[in-house]
Amino acid sequence: MEHIGILEGREKQVFEKKGGIETSDIACETSSLSGSVSQRACVFCGSRVVLYPVADAIHIVHGPIGCAAYTWDIRGAVSSGPELHRLSFSTDLQEMDVIYGGEKKLYLSLIELIEQYKPKAAFIYSTCIVGLIGDDIDAVCKKVAAETGIPVLPVHSEGFKGTKKDGYKAACFALMKLIGTGSTEGISKQSINILGEFNLAGEAWIIRKYYERMGIEVVSTLTGDGRIDAVKRAHGASLNVVQCSGSMTSLAKDMEEKYGIPYIRVSYFGIEDMSKSLYDVALHFPEHPEIMEAAKQVVSEEVKKLYPELQKFKKALTGKKAAIYVGGAFKTFSLIKALRSIGMSVVLAGSQTGNKDDYRRLKEMCDEGTVIVDDSNPVELSKFILEKEADLLIGGVKERPIAFKLGIGFCDHNHERKIPLAGFVGMYNFALEVYQSVMSPVWQFAPRKGGNR
Ligand code: SF4
Repeated sequence: MEHIGILEGREKQVFEKKGGIETSDIACETSSLSGSVSQRACVFCGSRVVLYPVADAIHIVHGPIGCAAYTWDIRGAVSSGPELHRLSFSTDLQEMDVIYGGEKKLYLSLIELIEQYKPKAAFIYSTCIVGLIGDDIDAVCKKVAAETGIPVLPVHSEGFKGTKKDGYKAACFALMKLIGTGSTEGISKQSINILGEFNLAGEAWIIRKYYERMGIEVVSTLTGDGRIDAVKRAHGASLNVVQCSGSMTSLAKDMEEKYGIPYIRVSYFGIEDMSKSLYDVALHFPEHPEIMEAAKQVVSEEVKKLYPELQKFKKALTGKKAAIYVGGAFKTFSLIKALRSIGMSVVLAGSQTGNKDDYRRLKEMCDEGTVIVDDSNPVELSKFILEKEADLLIGGVKERPIAFKLGIGFCDHNHERKIPLAGFVGMYNFALEVYQSVMSPVWQFAPRKGGNR
């Protein structure tokens, strides 16, 4: 096997767990190394990821048409009602707009679209070029909001300003402007908001039902299957439950500061973390022991159905090795536990946006010999997949070709998937997908590169 090295300048973002006392932190939360083909996306992409699922608003990308290529089609978020989010609008800035400014074009586009589609709100995303030419999108939004009577929210997401993570913050900032503008009348004391669940394949509906079975009212889901009116009254909930902590913790913190709503971090992937997500919410309402009883009932009913099914997959998958490279580190923790429950070990674990605490926890929970990477790239991932003889790669759409070119199984655990992987039913789907991919007969014809099967 040909030796593949690590790019110069990335050494501190790669760590291999090798016994002994290891105190130094893995380098993270830094700019990507130029030319490394980082899998991270830009600020605009980050903000779009968070706001996009709000289905009764229009989303306008103020910039050249290329930025708007990032549409619903490559990141579906399903809605139970309106589907305005599926339309991808752009001001399509051209050379003359760059010279003379794009404010007029944005104003006219907004007026026309609001008149035609009658949305509940409009989100306007700044892109790189808008940051460079200095369009005052705040002023345009203010003017259009006054003329049309709906919230018109600027999202300062110029791509060059940072990473996807900065886009999350820009999106949370826009959401904070909406929260607190609706009535909280009639909201139960036993209520929550679900933060960081984007309903890509109907997961928000699954999770919502579990909480409802416990007698909890879900005031809003931010932002999966999102509605502007629900966002406006989100400050009436008693607790914020944050999944995808990388994207939504800043919103939870802001809501805690402004409205005194506490928050907890949860994960809906795998039996262990899904059950804990229900118990942790129940623990928040100690004066209502019936909520904990109901949570136990939900877990017991669901696990009873799921457990025997998982044993079938476990029999075939025991001893197989997985590599994980996903957006947020919190998901990596859950995946490690979920894979262990079906007999698999993890030989490579990494994330695009993890912080020092995340990587410390990852070091603790990983097995000896596991490689941990921050903000990795295809060459590096290939190197460790080959060296550690992984049988499966779990990642997003950008990682899929790496797995197939190396002749190993792949599971899409990112935002492009169409099958729900959250909740108890999601754990079944996950195990089935892993089983089908790792054990596929196709590997007889496309054998693994650089290793033995
Ligand atoms: S980096 Fe800039 S130009 Fe590229 S997609 Fe993001 S906002 Fe658009």
